[in-house]
Amino acid sequence: MKITDIRFALLEVPLKTPFKTALRTVNEIKDIIVIVETDSGHIGYGEAPATAAITGDTLGSIVETIKSEMKPRLIGRDISNLNEITEIIQGSIMKNYNAKAAVEIAIYDLFAQLYGAPLYKILGGGEPTLSTDITISIDYIDKMVEDSLKAVELGFDILKVKVGKDIGLDMDRVRAIDAAVKGKALIRLDANQGWTAKGAVNALRSLEDSGIILELVEQPVRAEDLDGMKYITERVVTPVMADESSFGPREVIELIKMRAADIINIKLMKAGGISKAIKIADIAATYGVECMIGCMLESSISVSAAAHVAVAKSNIITKVDLDGPSLCQYDPVVCGVKFNNSEITISDSPGLGIKSVKNLQFLDV
Ligand code: MG
Repeated sequence: MKITDIRFALLEVPLKTPFKTALRTVNEIKDIIVIVETDSGHIGYGEAPATAAITGDTLGSIVETIKSEMKPRLIGRDISNLNEITEIIQGSIMKNYNAKAAVEIAIYDLFAQLYGAPLYKILGGGEPTLSTDITISIDYIDKMVEDSLKAVELGFDILKVKVGKDIGLDMDRVRAIDAAVKGKALIRLDANQGWTAKGAVNALRSLEDSGIILELVEQPVRAEDLDGMKYITERVVTPVMADESSFGPREVIELIKMRAADIINIKLMKAGGISKAIKIADIAATYGVECMIGCMLESSISVSAAAHVAVAKSNIITKVDLDGPSLCQYDPVVCGVKFNNSEITISDSPGLGIKSVKNLQFLDV
């Protein structure tokens, strides 16, 4: 099974409700789909969104990076040489993690197809079901309470609540949501870098004192402020999770050694693909640090890949935040992973099991 071509398409899917964080508002998923073709007729699919504010990647940079830096080195390579191929991808250019992730996802899809097994089995196996949380976008309090109650009605028992704009108002948000869903759902808070270290300690301690138990608080301060992360982690009972502060294996080792977070959020786009995500999970497991698997605004192609990794590494990836597909108005992808609100189930179809992708707009590059 040799690589014969790499093609690109745009996939746009409208969201059910606007996705709002402390940093941005988004109305649709708009991702680059990477299609890797082989001489055996097998096709591998990959996907990456633009996350300029987090990784620096844009839709244009993803396509250009793959086209000029990876494609020429990959054409003709045999899929059975997985380690060689991932090294080529990782060594092709500095950073550009989303581009690397998109290509790796397609390569791993093909590698598992080569052996006729679903990807999670090739990665070591596991129980092929996961339960995900859902994001509650930052908004007026009444709207956030309403969205939370709707999510609970749909069967979600963990809510990932976006905060991080005004810490006083954020605490009012948390209190109102907690009062509405107490006993029915756990709350994860994601501050998306919006707080100060001292403000976070103050606010979290006051929540703790009033008996509100958060499952965790994610990225309370700026990505590069590891001292701030450490300051909070040392002073609150609520577990602190690093998201934007943790990219690849090196940063994760530094975070863990500094004790700057209790939990690591692994995303394929930050890590630069599946090979690196596996490394991070193994490093975290070595130190006994739990992980979450997360996603950006992605559709079922790359989120499926993340689900396969989560199943295979469920010894240490104990928390799942893969709500991308359930935020979409419809799922354009027919694949081996079923996203049914909080339930994620992986079938036995080979690779990622992608049968078709609707609405692909092929790019002539
Ligand atoms: Mg986050």
